[in-house]
Amino acid sequence: MSHPPHAVHVRAPGKINIALRVGSPRPDGYHPLATVFQAVSLYEDVVAEPAPDISVTVTGRHAAQVPTDRSNLAWRAAKLLADATGTDTGVRLHVTKGVPTAGGMGGGSADAAATLLACDLLWGTGLAREELGELAAELGADVPFALTGHTAVGVGRGDVLTPALARGRFAWVLALSDRGLSTPSVFRAWDALHPDPVPSPVLDPDLMSALVAADPRTLARHLVNDLQQAALELRPDLGDVLEVMAGTPALGTIVSGSGPTVAALASGPGDAARIAEAVTAAEVASEVLVVTGPVQGARLLEHVRGDDD
Ligand code: ATP
Repeated sequence: MSHPPHAVHVRAPGKINIALRVGSPRPDGYHPLATVFQAVSLYEDVVAEPAPDISVTVTGRHAAQVPTDRSNLAWRAAKLLADATGTDTGVRLHVTKGVPTAGGMGGGSADAAATLLACDLLWGTGLAREELGELAAELGADVPFALTGHTAVGVGRGDVLTPALARGRFAWVLALSDRGLSTPSVFRAWDALHPDPVPSPVLDPDLMSALVAADPRTLARHLVNDLQQAALELRPDLGDVLEVMAGTPALGTIVSGSGPTVAALASGPGDAARIAEAVTAAEVASEVLVVTGPVQGARLLEHVRGDDD
Protein backbone atom coordinates (compact mmCIF):
# COMPACT_ATOMS: atom_id res chain seq x y z
CA MET A 1 0.00 0.00 0.00
CA SER A 2 1.41 3.40 -0.87
CA HIS A 3 0.99 6.49 1.27
CA PRO A 4 1.69 10.11 0.57
CA PRO A 5 5.24 11.13 1.26
CA HIS A 6 5.76 13.47 4.18
CA ALA A 7 8.34 15.93 2.85
CA VAL A 8 10.52 16.40 -0.19
CA HIS A 9 13.68 18.51 -0.08
CA VAL A 10 15.08 19.71 -3.43
CA ARG A 11 18.08 21.97 -4.06
CA ALA A 12 18.63 24.07 -7.21
CA PRO A 13 21.59 26.29 -8.11
CA GLY A 14 21.94 29.93 -9.10
CA LYS A 15 23.72 30.76 -12.35
CA ILE A 16 26.04 33.21 -13.93
CA ASN A 17 26.08 34.04 -17.62
CA ILE A 18 29.61 33.54 -18.92
CA ALA A 19 28.48 35.09 -22.20
CA LEU A 20 25.25 36.98 -22.84
CA ARG A 21 24.60 38.37 -26.31
CA VAL A 22 21.43 40.33 -27.02
CA GLY A 23 19.57 41.27 -30.23
CA SER A 24 16.76 43.76 -30.89
CA PRO A 25 13.31 42.73 -29.64
CA ARG A 26 11.27 40.34 -31.78
CA PRO A 27 7.63 41.12 -32.68
CA ASP A 28 6.55 39.35 -29.46
CA GLY A 29 8.60 41.84 -27.43
CA TYR A 30 11.29 39.39 -26.28
CA HIS A 31 14.92 40.09 -26.97
CA PRO A 32 16.60 37.17 -28.75
CA LEU A 33 19.49 35.93 -26.62
CA ALA A 34 22.50 33.73 -27.11
CA THR A 35 24.01 32.86 -23.77
CA VAL A 36 26.24 30.42 -21.93
CA PHE A 37 24.93 29.65 -18.48
CA GLN A 38 27.02 28.12 -15.76
CA ALA A 39 25.39 26.81 -12.57
CA VAL A 40 27.41 27.78 -9.50
CA SER A 41 27.58 26.54 -5.92
CA LEU A 42 25.05 28.98 -4.48
CA TYR A 43 21.75 27.28 -3.84
CA GLU A 44 18.05 27.62 -3.20
CA ASP A 45 16.52 24.90 -1.01
CA VAL A 46 12.84 24.08 -1.30
CA VAL A 47 11.04 21.79 1.15
CA ALA A 48 7.58 20.67 0.07
CA GLU A 49 5.04 19.12 2.45
CA PRO A 50 1.47 18.00 1.81
CA ALA A 51 -1.18 20.64 2.56
CA PRO A 52 -4.72 21.38 1.41
CA ASP A 53 -3.71 24.61 -0.42
CA ILE A 54 -0.57 26.04 -2.00
CA SER A 55 1.42 28.32 0.33
CA VAL A 56 4.97 29.66 0.44
CA THR A 57 7.27 30.84 3.23
CA VAL A 58 10.75 32.23 2.62
CA THR A 59 13.87 32.58 4.78
CA GLY A 60 17.56 33.14 4.04
CA ARG A 61 19.48 35.70 1.98
CA HIS A 62 17.35 38.78 1.04
CA ALA A 63 14.19 36.90 2.13
CA ALA A 64 12.46 40.16 3.10
CA GLN A 65 12.52 41.26 -0.57
CA VAL A 66 10.70 38.15 -1.79
CA PRO A 67 6.89 38.04 -2.06
CA THR A 68 5.10 35.10 -0.43
CA ASP A 69 1.85 35.51 -2.33
CA ARG A 70 0.78 34.10 -5.70
CA SER A 71 3.44 36.17 -7.47
CA ASN A 72 6.19 34.03 -5.91
CA LEU A 73 7.70 31.90 -8.66
CA ALA A 74 7.61 28.83 -6.39
CA TRP A 75 3.85 29.32 -5.87
CA ARG A 76 3.36 29.73 -9.63
CA ALA A 77 5.41 26.60 -10.33
CA ALA A 78 3.30 24.49 -7.94
CA LYS A 79 0.08 25.85 -9.43
CA LEU A 80 1.24 25.22 -13.01
CA LEU A 81 2.19 21.62 -12.22
CA ALA A 82 -1.10 21.04 -10.36
CA ASP A 83 -3.12 22.41 -13.29
CA ALA A 84 -1.09 20.51 -15.89
CA THR A 85 -1.53 17.19 -14.09
CA GLY A 86 -5.04 17.62 -12.68
CA THR A 87 -3.77 17.52 -9.09
CA ASP A 88 -6.26 18.90 -6.60
CA THR A 89 -4.22 18.70 -3.39
CA GLY A 90 -1.92 21.53 -2.30
CA VAL A 91 1.56 21.91 -0.91
CA ARG A 92 3.31 23.88 1.81
CA LEU A 93 6.54 25.19 0.31
CA HIS A 94 9.42 26.51 2.35
CA VAL A 95 12.17 28.28 0.43
CA THR A 96 15.60 28.90 1.95
CA LYS A 97 17.36 31.43 -0.24
CA GLY A 98 21.08 31.38 -0.88
CA VAL A 99 21.00 33.16 -4.25
CA PRO A 100 20.67 36.95 -4.07
CA THR A 101 17.22 38.32 -4.94
CA ALA A 102 16.98 40.31 -8.19
CA GLY A 103 20.72 39.73 -8.45
CA GLY A 104 20.97 38.51 -12.04
CA MET A 105 21.65 34.99 -10.78
CA GLY A 106 18.27 33.41 -11.40
CA GLY A 107 17.29 32.85 -7.76
CA GLY A 108 13.56 32.94 -8.39
CA SER A 109 14.05 30.67 -11.39
CA ALA A 110 15.91 28.18 -9.17
CA ASP A 111 12.96 28.23 -6.75
CA ALA A 112 10.58 27.50 -9.60
CA ALA A 113 12.72 24.62 -10.89
CA ALA A 114 13.16 23.13 -7.42
CA THR A 115 9.41 23.42 -6.77
CA LEU A 116 8.49 21.64 -10.01
CA LEU A 117 10.73 18.70 -9.09
CA ALA A 118 9.68 18.67 -5.40
CA CYS A 119 5.94 18.75 -6.15
CA ASP A 120 6.28 16.15 -8.90
CA LEU A 121 7.79 13.80 -6.30
CA LEU A 122 5.45 14.81 -3.46
CA TRP A 123 2.31 14.40 -5.56
CA GLY A 124 3.62 11.36 -7.44
CA THR A 125 2.74 12.99 -10.76
CA GLY A 126 5.77 11.29 -12.30
CA LEU A 127 6.52 13.68 -15.16
CA ALA A 128 9.58 13.04 -17.31
CA ARG A 129 12.41 15.59 -17.02
CA GLU A 130 11.52 16.73 -20.53
CA GLU A 131 7.91 17.46 -19.48
CA LEU A 132 9.14 19.34 -16.41
CA GLY A 133 11.40 21.31 -18.77
CA GLU A 134 8.40 22.36 -20.87
CA LEU A 135 6.54 23.60 -17.79
CA ALA A 136 9.75 25.32 -16.65
CA ALA A 137 9.93 27.31 -19.90
CA GLU A 138 6.37 28.54 -19.30
CA LEU A 139 7.44 29.96 -15.93
CA GLY A 140 10.44 31.93 -17.15
CA ALA A 141 13.34 31.93 -19.56
CA ASP A 142 15.93 30.92 -16.92
CA VAL A 143 13.87 28.16 -15.27
CA PRO A 144 14.78 25.29 -17.66
CA PHE A 145 18.48 25.91 -17.00
CA ALA A 146 17.98 25.73 -13.21
CA LEU A 147 16.56 22.23 -13.80
CA THR A 148 19.46 21.03 -15.94
CA GLY A 149 22.41 22.90 -14.42
CA HIS A 150 26.06 22.33 -15.40
CA THR A 151 27.08 24.54 -18.36
CA ALA A 152 24.69 25.08 -21.25
CA VAL A 153 24.08 27.27 -24.25
CA GLY A 154 20.70 29.00 -24.24
CA VAL A 155 19.09 30.58 -27.30
CA GLY A 156 15.63 31.97 -28.02
CA ARG A 157 14.74 33.74 -24.77
CA GLY A 158 17.57 31.72 -23.17
CA ASP A 159 15.19 28.81 -22.62
CA VAL A 160 16.17 26.62 -25.60
CA LEU A 161 19.09 24.74 -24.09
CA THR A 162 21.94 22.65 -25.42
CA PRO A 163 24.45 21.19 -22.96
CA ALA A 164 27.92 22.67 -23.47
CA LEU A 165 31.00 20.55 -23.43
CA ALA A 166 32.84 22.03 -20.45
CA ARG A 167 35.66 20.43 -18.53
CA GLY A 168 37.11 21.34 -15.16
CA ARG A 169 35.87 23.54 -12.36
CA PHE A 170 36.12 27.28 -12.29
CA ALA A 171 36.48 29.47 -9.20
CA TRP A 172 34.37 32.63 -9.21
CA VAL A 173 34.25 35.52 -6.76
CA LEU A 174 30.83 37.14 -6.51
CA ALA A 175 30.28 40.70 -5.31
CA LEU A 176 26.67 40.95 -4.16
CA SER A 177 24.51 44.02 -3.75
CA ASP A 178 21.61 44.20 -1.33
CA ARG A 179 19.76 46.49 -3.77
CA GLY A 180 18.38 44.41 -6.65
CA LEU A 181 18.06 45.38 -10.32
CA SER A 182 14.86 44.65 -12.20
CA THR A 183 15.59 42.63 -15.35
CA PRO A 184 12.93 44.44 -17.47
CA SER A 185 14.42 47.83 -16.54
CA VAL A 186 17.88 46.66 -17.66
CA PHE A 187 16.45 45.55 -21.02
CA ARG A 188 14.73 48.95 -21.36
CA ALA A 189 18.09 50.64 -20.72
CA TRP A 190 19.64 48.34 -23.37
CA ASP A 191 16.89 49.41 -25.84
CA ALA A 192 17.68 53.07 -25.19
CA LEU A 193 21.38 52.39 -25.87
CA HIS A 194 20.56 50.60 -29.16
CA PRO A 195 18.18 52.75 -31.24
CA ASP A 196 19.27 50.96 -34.45
CA PRO A 197 18.43 47.28 -35.09
CA VAL A 198 20.89 44.79 -33.59
CA PRO A 199 20.98 41.46 -35.48
CA SER A 200 20.16 38.17 -33.80
CA PRO A 201 23.09 37.29 -31.58
CA VAL A 202 25.60 34.48 -32.01
CA LEU A 203 28.23 33.09 -29.67
CA ASP A 204 31.94 33.16 -30.41
CA PRO A 205 33.08 29.58 -31.26
CA ASP A 206 36.37 30.32 -29.45
CA LEU A 207 34.39 30.60 -26.22
CA MET A 208 33.11 27.05 -26.66
CA SER A 209 36.69 25.85 -27.23
CA ALA A 210 37.80 27.71 -24.08
CA LEU A 211 35.20 25.80 -22.04
CA VAL A 212 36.49 22.49 -23.36
CA ALA A 213 40.10 23.51 -22.69
CA ALA A 214 39.20 24.01 -19.00
CA ASP A 215 41.68 26.87 -18.86
CA PRO A 216 40.40 29.86 -16.86
CA ARG A 217 42.91 32.20 -18.56
CA THR A 218 41.49 31.42 -21.99
CA LEU A 219 37.92 31.55 -20.72
CA ALA A 220 38.53 34.96 -19.13
CA ARG A 221 39.24 36.45 -22.57
CA HIS A 222 35.77 35.46 -23.74
CA LEU A 223 33.62 36.75 -20.89
CA VAL A 224 31.04 39.04 -22.48
CA ASN A 225 27.77 40.59 -21.36
CA ASP A 226 25.82 42.83 -23.74
CA LEU A 227 23.64 43.94 -20.79
CA GLN A 228 26.63 45.16 -18.79
CA GLN A 229 26.59 48.74 -20.08
CA ALA A 230 22.83 49.01 -19.46
CA ALA A 231 23.25 47.67 -15.90
CA LEU A 232 26.05 50.20 -15.32
CA GLU A 233 23.83 53.05 -16.53
CA LEU A 234 21.28 52.13 -13.87
CA ARG A 235 23.87 51.31 -11.23
CA PRO A 236 27.06 53.33 -11.80
CA ASP A 237 28.38 52.02 -8.46
CA LEU A 238 28.98 48.63 -10.14
CA GLY A 239 31.81 50.38 -11.99
CA ASP A 240 33.59 50.68 -8.63
CA VAL A 241 33.32 46.92 -8.11
CA LEU A 242 34.74 46.23 -11.58
CA GLU A 243 37.56 48.71 -10.97
CA VAL A 244 38.51 47.15 -7.64
CA MET A 245 38.46 43.67 -9.18
CA ALA A 246 40.70 44.88 -12.03
CA GLY A 247 43.38 45.64 -9.43
CA THR A 248 43.33 42.05 -8.09
CA PRO A 249 44.56 38.77 -9.60
CA ALA A 250 41.10 38.38 -11.26
CA LEU A 251 41.57 36.94 -14.77
CA GLY A 252 38.38 38.57 -16.02
CA THR A 253 35.24 40.23 -14.67
CA ILE A 254 31.63 40.34 -15.74
CA VAL A 255 28.27 41.59 -14.52
CA SER A 256 26.12 38.48 -14.05
CA GLY A 257 23.02 38.50 -16.28
CA SER A 258 21.08 41.70 -15.71
CA GLY A 259 23.12 42.45 -12.56
CA PRO A 260 23.82 43.82 -10.03
CA THR A 261 25.96 40.80 -9.01
CA VAL A 262 29.49 41.12 -10.39
CA ALA A 263 31.61 37.99 -10.96
CA ALA A 264 35.39 37.69 -11.17
CA LEU A 265 37.04 34.60 -12.62
CA ALA A 266 40.00 33.37 -10.57
CA SER A 267 42.83 31.02 -11.58
CA GLY A 268 42.00 28.81 -8.58
CA PRO A 269 40.94 28.83 -4.91
CA GLY A 270 44.02 30.72 -3.65
CA ASP A 271 43.54 33.66 -5.98
CA ALA A 272 39.78 33.54 -5.39
CA ALA A 273 40.41 34.09 -1.67
CA ARG A 274 42.79 36.98 -2.45
CA ILE A 275 40.28 38.63 -4.80
CA ALA A 276 37.49 38.20 -2.25
CA GLU A 277 39.66 39.77 0.44
CA ALA A 278 40.44 42.80 -1.73
CA VAL A 279 36.80 43.36 -2.73
CA THR A 280 35.68 43.00 0.90
CA ALA A 281 38.36 45.46 2.10
CA ALA A 282 37.31 48.03 -0.55
CA GLU A 283 33.73 47.99 0.83
CA VAL A 284 32.17 48.12 -2.64
CA ALA A 285 29.82 45.14 -2.16
CA SER A 286 27.27 44.18 0.48
CA GLU A 287 28.65 40.65 0.55
CA VAL A 288 31.50 38.80 -1.18
CA LEU A 289 31.37 35.07 -1.87
CA VAL A 290 33.64 32.48 -3.47
CA VAL A 291 31.77 29.86 -5.48
CA THR A 292 32.66 27.18 -8.01
CA GLY A 293 31.03 26.05 -11.22
CA PRO A 294 29.72 24.11 -12.92
CA VAL A 295 27.44 22.26 -10.49
CA GLN A 296 24.43 20.08 -11.21
CA GLY A 297 20.86 21.32 -11.63
CA ALA A 298 17.81 20.77 -9.41
CA ARG A 299 18.23 17.58 -7.41
CA LEU A 300 16.50 15.64 -4.68
CA LEU A 301 18.29 15.88 -1.32
CA GLU A 302 15.80 14.05 0.85
CA HIS A 303 12.45 12.35 0.48
CA VAL A 304 11.01 11.69 3.93
CA ARG A 305 7.99 9.45 3.73
CA GLY A 306 5.09 9.24 6.18
CA ASP A 307 5.26 6.72 9.07
CA ASP A 308 3.03 4.26 7.26
CA ASP A 309 5.36 3.90 4.25
P1 ATP B 1 17.20 36.54 -13.54
O1 ATP B 1 18.66 36.47 -13.43
O2 ATP B 1 16.54 35.25 -13.91
O3 ATP B 1 16.70 37.70 -14.35
P2 ATP B 1 17.18 37.57 -10.88
O4 ATP B 1 18.10 36.67 -10.15
O5 ATP B 1 17.69 38.90 -11.30
O6 ATP B 1 16.60 36.80 -12.12
P3 ATP B 1 15.13 36.88 -9.02
O7 ATP B 1 15.82 36.81 -7.73
O8 ATP B 1 14.81 35.62 -9.69
O9 ATP B 1 15.91 37.84 -10.03
O10 ATP B 1 13.78 37.70 -8.78
C1 ATP B 1 13.35 38.84 -9.47
C2 ATP B 1 12.06 39.38 -8.82
O11 ATP B 1 11.07 38.37 -8.84
C3 ATP B 1 12.26 39.76 -7.37
O12 ATP B 1 12.45 41.14 -7.26
C4 ATP B 1 10.97 39.32 -6.67
O13 ATP B 1 10.12 40.41 -6.43
C5 ATP B 1 10.27 38.38 -7.65
N1 ATP B 1 10.17 36.98 -7.16
C6 ATP B 1 9.13 36.18 -7.31
N2 ATP B 1 9.35 34.96 -6.78
C7 ATP B 1 10.58 34.97 -6.28
C8 ATP B 1 11.36 34.01 -5.61
N3 ATP B 1 10.91 32.79 -5.32
N4 ATP B 1 12.62 34.37 -5.25
C9 ATP B 1 13.08 35.61 -5.55
N5 ATP B 1 12.36 36.57 -6.15
C10 ATP B 1 11.12 36.26 -6.54
